[in-house]
Amino acid sequence: MANSYVPTIELNDGHHIPQLGFGVFLVDPEQTERIVSDALEAGYRHIDTAAIYGNEEGVGRAIAKSGIPRDELFVTTKLWNDAQGTQSAFDAIDSSLEKLGLDNVDLYLIHWPTPERDLYAETWRALEQIKADGKARSIGVSNFLKSHLERIMAESDTVPAVDQIELHPALQSRELTSFARSVGTQIEAWGPLGQGKYPLFEEQSVVSAAEAHGKSPAQVVIRWHLQHGNIVFPKSNRAERMAENFDVLDFTLTESEMAGIDALERDGRVGTHPNEFN
Ligand code: NDP
Repeated sequence: MANSYVPTIELNDGHHIPQLGFGVFLVDPEQTERIVSDALEAGYRHIDTAAIYGNEEGVGRAIAKSGIPRDELFVTTKLWNDAQGTQSAFDAIDSSLEKLGLDNVDLYLIHWPTPERDLYAETWRALEQIKADGKARSIGVSNFLKSHLERIMAESDTVPAVDQIELHPALQSRELTSFARSVGTQIEAWGPLGQGKYPLFEEQSVVSAAEAHGKSPAQVVIRWHLQHGNIVFPKSNRAERMAENFDVLDFTLTESEMAGIDALERDGRVGTHPNEFN
């Protein structure tokens, strides 16, 4: 089975997540079924979607059509900002499950803290109930800074299984990632390729590692994530790039190649700062 050689990471609740998956942000809802079918065909077994992407139905149709047993798939979705709160979170997971055509998701995330609403701690306690009800096997957060993580840990009994944050060579958030890991929260890197907004693929350290291993710059950047222990799900609409991005398990970057890519840190955020996204 294709997934058998994708490494998995153990989450703090004992479940395992495939370290390499496929993301569907900005995948056109009309095209999602076909694109996710292509991704499953390429070997991906971990799909990352969100209510706000508007494409959960397409993800669900592709899964149903694939015939792949449910226990071989790992599906993540996320609660959008306007659904923060207790009853609205319960309604949001039911709506997502209905659209996905699933009884449960493997991972359910609060998409953004939206600190001005001041509802993320209450929402987190609702996610604890959603997990207890069996509607999500694991629960986590996204775009949470250290202060947000500290608050929900102080006000609940559950440490998030993951924090999904913007992370790529130009924005490594080292303090946040080491704090999260120190409490047992795994790091998922969104925008792992910098969303194409930084010329990462032209950086000398990336290009020379690619040449040394006979790989593409994108493959080198994905490999850099995997060797740092990040969970990644690069997105592509194109089948040839899906295959390229999945073909990263047969080479290892040297310590000096890793250090050369580490040196690309420049606080280069391409998305909104989590404290400012309300
Ligand atoms: P990525 O860093 O994965 O970049 C995607 C872009 O890179 C697309 O334009 C794609 O173009 C291009 N690309 C993909 N593969 C290659 C390649 N091999 N060579 C050259 N270009 C390539 O950005 P995303 O924002 O999509 O991040 C990945 C996932 O993270 C999302 O799909 C989503 O699941 C999640 N995410 C979560 C967020 C959150 O707030 N929690 C925010 C943003 C993303 P093309 O499609 O034309 O190939």
